[in-house]
Amino acid sequence: MIGAGAAGLMCALRLAERGVKNCVLLERNERVGRKLSVTGNGQGNVSNIRLGAAHYFGSGEETVAAILRRYSEEWLIKQLEELGGLFFADGSGRVYPASRQASSVTDLFRFALEGYGMPLRLGEKALRVEKNDGVFCVHTESNDYFCRRLVLACGGMASPHFGADGSGYALAKMFGHTVTPLSPSLVRLRADPQILRGLKGVRCECVVTLRHFIDKTIDAGATTRGDVLFTDGGISGDAVFRISAFAKTGDELMLDFLPDIGDEEVLRVLRAKAERYPDMRAEDLLRVIVHSAVGKAVLRRCKVAADERAAVISQMLPRMVCFLKKFTVAVTGTDGFANAQVTKGGVDMRELTSALESKKAHGLYIVGELCDVDGECGGYNLQWAFSSGACAADAIAESLCGSRT
Ligand SMILES: Cc1cc2nc3c(=O)[nH]c(=O)nc-3n(C[C@H](O)[C@H](O)[C@H](O)COP(=O)(O)OP(=O)(O)OC[C@H]3O[C@@H](n4cnc5c(N)ncnc54)[C@H](O)[C@@H]3O)c2cc1C
Repeated sequence: MIGAGAAGLMCALRLAERGVKNCVLLERNERVGRKLSVTGNGQGNVSNIRLGAAHYFGSGEETVAAILRRYSEEWLIKQLEELGGLFFADGSGRVYPASRQASSVTDLFRFALEGYGMPLRLGEKALRVEKNDGVFCVHTESNDYFCRRLVLACGGMASPHFGADGSGYALAKMFGHTVTPLSPSLVRLRADPQILRGLKGVRCECVVTLRHFIDKTIDAGATTRGDVLFTDGGISGDAVFRISAFAKTGDELMLDFLPDIGDEEVLRVLRAKAERYPDMRAEDLLRVIVHSAVGKAVLRRCKVAADERAAVISQMLPRMVCFLKKFTVAVTGTDGFANAQVTKGGVDMRELTSALESKKAHGLYIVGELCDVDGECGGYNLQWAFSSGACAADAIAESLCGSRT
């Protein structure tokens, strides 16, 4: 097996549990699960109780749905709790370890694999693979490993500093696999710093619409609702992450800061407030309605001074409502693979069986983020990594022992 991330660790554990001997886990890093240990802002959002294929993208809808039904979030939690962990779902359905420490999830696997005496070969980067007479040979810088079943669990190329640098795609291509176009997903979008001035650190719930411009015509792309977080020179948060893979330089994000209140209602409230307090500063007029930093940004866009009196700006109120409900931000790029959480695209799922065995090379299995499967933010990507790892392990165990559990 190549790669000791979420998918590889689960696959190795399951093989050990099924009594498969002579399994070797190669990992280029000096320790296992480096990415797993930092997930969910260090808290380890391992799954989501709203699991379903609708939260995934890629070329293998049916296969993904079937695997997630068999290796569901309930299955995963049970597995992890049997290893000694304790897990809970928060209000939005995200499943975390009770420790709120992602590294403790890695530890569960580490302890269990040590218990099974699973040989780990750390600091071993697979450089080349080949298959001759039914035997795979994995070449690293210093060793050659031979096996009849090989699992590629090398991850994608998001946040390569954790180990998955895209080399898995090259290994899959050595067996003739097609890799669909790759792009960073669940990634921060960069935006004009002038528009974002003063907003750094503000988090709010918005409806976000991604708009593309084709021949100067707006093509409304994806619309989603959720958290938006303004950062230094960019925007992130769940809602932005969800559409980030589709965004490119020159696109526009349209934010509705008051998604539950219609334009007319917002205007009515502002007018009533302005009439009641004609001397109120424009900035205070928007207070309580939106975060004060958002209010200031809206006023800047309307070219209204923050200390202008309410009576003076009554004509501007419809324009202010327009910016509260349709605050546009030009996208100037993304943070790229270097800072993305996942890779969109990967090994074409149509080239894998429902057990994730390669249709190009018998005995080769491809799991985790290396596959053309990417999930939404919220625990879906780790769940896929764990589910796919277990699926391949069971298929291997069955092919070796001819038994089912
Ligand atoms: C900062 C961050 C936060 C995230 N938070 C979440 C979250 O909260 N919830 C969620 O669901 N998802 C989250 N994700 C996504 C999730 O971590 C990945 O989708 C998941 O880890 C993929 O698992 P994997 O085993 O396929 O790949 P990886 O976890 O990337 O593991 C692949 C392993 O293979 C090794 N490897 C690669 N190439 C070779 C080679 N040639 N030879 C030997 N070893 C190799 C790598 O070093 C690595 O250890 C997050 C990602 C990031 C970057």
